[in-house]
Amino acid sequence: MTEKKSPLTGFSSLAIHGGHQQDPNYAHLTPLYASSTFVYDNAEQGMRRFSGKEEGFIYSRWGNPGFSEAERKISAMESFGIMENGSPLELKALLHASGMAAISTLMMMNLKAGDKILTHFSLYGGTEELIRNLLPAFGVEGIIADLRDLNLAASILKSDPAIRMLYIETPANPTIQCVDIEELSRMARERNIIVACDNTFATPYLQQPFKYPVDFVIHSTTKFLNGHGTAIGGVLIGRDIEFMKSKAYVTHKTLGGNSNPFDAFLLINGMKTLEVRMERHCANAVQIADFLATHPAVSKVNYNGLASHPDYEVAAKQMRHPGAMMSFELKKGLPGGIEFMNKLRMCTRTVSLGTCDTLLSHPASMTHYSVPKEAREKYGITDGLIRMSVGMENVEDILNDLSQALE
Ligand code: PLP
Repeated sequence: MTEKKSPLTGFSSLAIHGGHQQDPNYAHLTPLYASSTFVYDNAEQGMRRFSGKEEGFIYSRWGNPGFSEAERKISAMESFGIMENGSPLELKALLHASGMAAISTLMMMNLKAGDKILTHFSLYGGTEELIRNLLPAFGVEGIIADLRDLNLAASILKSDPAIRMLYIETPANPTIQCVDIEELSRMARERNIIVACDNTFATPYLQQPFKYPVDFVIHSTTKFLNGHGTAIGGVLIGRDIEFMKSKAYVTHKTLGGNSNPFDAFLLINGMKTLEVRMERHCANAVQIADFLATHPAVSKVNYNGLASHPDYEVAAKQMRHPGAMMSFELKKGLPGGIEFMNKLRMCTRTVSLGTCDTLLSHPASMTHYSVPKEAREKYGITDGLIRMSVGMENVEDILNDLSQALE
């Protein structure tokens, strides 16, 4: 199977053609290889495949043609336009069953008892649960600090030699806080600390963490990369190809967090439209943030494209556009949040993000219902906070729906 090799200058051309190899039966799109295992012509071939002397698929937990195509496409997008030592940056991705599976592989392959992870306090809840409550059972401790304060980050990194990994998520869930990837990764690199960045909210179209000394990038592909809300998935991408092919691959296949052919197929086709989708999502988001910022029922808008957002400059430095995620606080608190959610007509009431339709959630009555008020407020999750993933509908319709629900 050959891959089209002509140099592509545009992101969409790469997103559409990158990673594709001609199917041996000349199908236009890579078909679904819905097969748990792959066969050998003879015992010798089986031996060559298992010993790694011959390339080829063995067992779908270990790899599948659809997973490989998705992995090549994501690697191509994350490295698009980045040069290192005079050559295009080469990356290797491993497709997973979910974002959390990719993050679990990341932790298991890099950390051991006695190690510590330094991370920012605004993180996706599942990642925080892993760092705060699950990893300590394996002797790995999390240090959760405000990494927007670079002096604080420097002093923590300097004072604790047990820190083995810096883990960042930017923009972060649900406050849309951003941390400085360049400065933090440079500080960590000086101390030989592994740097991992969750790029789910931004996508490689808006932000490429590998421009900086970042070792690993993670995505929940469930979100903007798939783009249509049709499948759960995740990916772990690394710049040390040998490490990705050895320790990372072995950890991934042994933990068993593999994807499946159908979800990989949906992801491959979703990713082809990433640029056009993100352009529309972001253009809509800018207009909606402006509308909300002056609305009398709204006390605060968290959107990194507004000059009032504390991380506006950091976001502008490292992102192509401010993104499609925002949150805002209603003056009427908990009852106001419930009333607003109930009045929505077109926009969708749900968690998750990154789909064609606009999604809204009210953390205090939904995702964070069981978290005590004081605990969630520490992270900016107030009673009246609404999280919004801005969709690709015509912006007038989104504005009309929000406007009538805010009345
Ligand atoms: N990272 C971020 C920023 C997320 O928002 C999520 C899920 O919402 C995850 C990771 C986990 O991804 P998944 O749900 O695909 O396991």
